[in-house]
Amino acid sequence: KRTPFIAGNWKMNLDHLQSIAFVQKLAWSLADAKHDFADAEVAVFPPFTDLRSVQTLVSADSLPIAYGAQDVSAHDSGAYTGEISGAFLAALDCRYVIIGHSERRTLHGESDADINAKVLAAHRHGLIPVLCVGETAEDLEAHGPSAVPVAQLRAALEGVDGSKGLVVAYEPVWAIGSGQAATPDQAEQVAAALRGVLTEVFDDEIAQATRVLYGGSVKAANIASFLREPNVDGALVGGASLDIAEFSSIARFK
Ligand code: 13P
Repeated sequence: KRTPFIAGNWKMNLDHLQSIAFVQKLAWSLADAKHDFADAEVAVFPPFTDLRSVQTLVSADSLPIAYGAQDVSAHDSGAYTGEISGAFLAALDCRYVIIGHSERRTLHGESDADINAKVLAAHRHGLIPVLCVGETAEDLEAHGPSAVPVAQLRAALEGVDGSKGLVVAYEPVWAIGSGQAATPDQAEQVAAALRGVLTEVFDDEIAQATRVLYGGSVKAANIASFLREPNVDGALVGGASLDIAEFSSIARFK
């Protein structure tokens, strides 16, 4: 059985001081609600400059909240101005790293090959990639729902060792920040196709153990409908992850 995963992608919001207050309050909110972390793992993905603060707080108070970065360099060290090595993230006890978010693909020109190199880099440092795939509205019109996410996933997994851990996030670009979430049916259809790719590329055991998330305009009011789908194992939440009460109630989706 896969433990549901509720992940908050803060994007470029909250500085290191705000991150401390936020994570502390989130922990209190979850504790108040008697959140059972065996029912749903909770993770936050703050900006790089917050990670040291989040690490300090989480370790000092033994908070049951996981965290990771929003991107990682494909390289391990050297003359790559502005890049952040997976080694640095591992040194800050990050468990996860988001790779291939559509904002990286479109605004920063990341190719499938770049994303594949980042997945390999994350694994070199013991980080679990939260690998994002998803189609634009034009892709959906031209190729149907699964073709682009399936191709992106295949490309990202080239030469990847499936035993090193992976989370896949299906985020249709048209649903991100639009208030227009996919239907649970749409999410399930693509999640099932992505799990099929995992079986094909790795094996059935790894495919069954890998969590496939849905992302795009997830909020407390719609999370339960996604989690009812057999192949949807959680959510990657943007805007609603910046509201403590809302995010905390998303984590208690039942
Ligand atoms: P929203 O939840 O704001 O639509 O963003 C989704 C997302 O991009 C998470 O990575």
